[in-house]
Amino acid sequence: MEAKNLAVLRNEMFNRVRSILYERYGEFVPDPLVENESQGEIVVRSIKRVESFKADEDLLDLFDALEKVFSGRYGYCLFCRKEIEFSKLMKNPLAKFCDTCERMLSPTYVSGDVQPEEKR
Ligand SMILES: [Zn+2]
Repeated sequence: MEAKNLAVLRNEMFNRVRSILYERYGEFVPDPLVENESQGEIVVRSIKRVESFKADEDLLDLFDALEKVFSGRYGYCLFCRKEIEFSKLMKNPLAKFCDTCERMLSPTYVSGDVQPEEKR
């Protein structure tokens, strides 16, 4: 993935982290949060250390994805290992499968069961 696109997704995920911290915990994180990877890594590590966030699955999912960004493993399909389409990641930065695999895997998942994320 292009560095430019990756930065867009990284910022999007940081924004989600910020709004969760603010809306659920009243924690305000200043806006220009991260300029580069190493700064971002420090932020994630320090937030993760706070006990009350450890049970928040939305935050943990975002942190997992961000850690993949930092280690260069972000954006690959868990199934076929190919890069996930950027347009797909823009809609859902936490997408774990590429379009092809998602379609292939979906009959087992989409049996009337709506994922919590889609309800909102
Ligand atoms: Zn795939």
